[in-house]
Amino acid sequence: MTQYRLTSRKMPILDTYPKESRVSVYFPKDCPNTCPFCTSREDYRKWGVNPYKVMQFLAALPTDMKHIVTITGGEPASDINMLRDMIHVLPPTADVYINTTALTNTFDRLKELVGEESRVQGIAVSRHGANIADDKLILHGIVEDDAFKDVPCGIRINAVVPDVFDADYFRNIMERWRPIFCQRPNVYKTGLTFRFDYNKCNFGNLHLLDTPEIKALMSVPDVQYAGQSISDYAHTMLYNYRGMRIRYHRCLPGVVVKIGDTISLRELVVYPDGFVATDWDRTNVGLDWYMSNVFHNGEE
Ligand code: SF4
Repeated sequence: MTQYRLTSRKMPILDTYPKESRVSVYFPKDCPNTCPFCTSREDYRKWGVNPYKVMQFLAALPTDMKHIVTITGGEPASDINMLRDMIHVLPPTADVYINTTALTNTFDRLKELVGEESRVQGIAVSRHGANIADDKLILHGIVEDDAFKDVPCGIRINAVVPDVFDADYFRNIMERWRPIFCQRPNVYKTGLTFRFDYNKCNFGNLHLLDTPEIKALMSVPDVQYAGQSISDYAHTMLYNYRGMRIRYHRCLPGVVVKIGDTISLRELVVYPDGFVATDWDRTNVGLDWYMSNVFHNGEE
């Protein structure tokens, strides 16, 4: 008989206590930008948007437990008023993270907002190149790197490791961001994440410690190992590099993990039309269990 459990971020065996929920919510409005390699526009067209339904779900999150809410896109900064409303309807026990492309026409207003809203813990921004000219080939209208110096919350820069890499690839990207991050040494949750391509990740390679990526990263002078965290669906190596925090993150493409008869759930995904799922492919396996056991302290 299938059993469900809530996966922990760090312990592969134990459930997370005290419970906290994780909710990733697509911004319920399509992005007006025109990046050539954007995959979001097609998703928004397919799913449609229903801001009212999304807000209704967020407003109904239980107030007696912690929630980690990530607002993603599309581009959440494309309508700052709607973004503010989403933050305001959440219970006071929610910490908020925002995924943004950091565009020139909205980034100043986003910075103001995250400075005003104390529940925003951090923003995450994808930048994959060794310099901004490389990033501009795939992203339109992005801010210069200097714009990140004074963001009044944590920042995570994410770079997906390409098929071909060497120690210089890692060093060049770390050196790109070092001038920014080393001016923010005390800002919690600030750092650079190298991400293994989700689509190439599976149970066979999820927890390997001697991959070519790790060897190349560790061969860069001044990179020091600082720990790791493991879970059913992810493995993160932690490093320091000349005053910067570095993560190397490997993660399965989905977060619903089946081991034997047990299905491990991690987060809810709220789509822009208000549809709620337990994974990024609109799967809602275990949703009833999640709603009654995680949100309402039912028997497990
Ligand atoms: S900013 Fe993001 S969501 Fe908008 S078009 Fe560019 S890649 Fe797509």
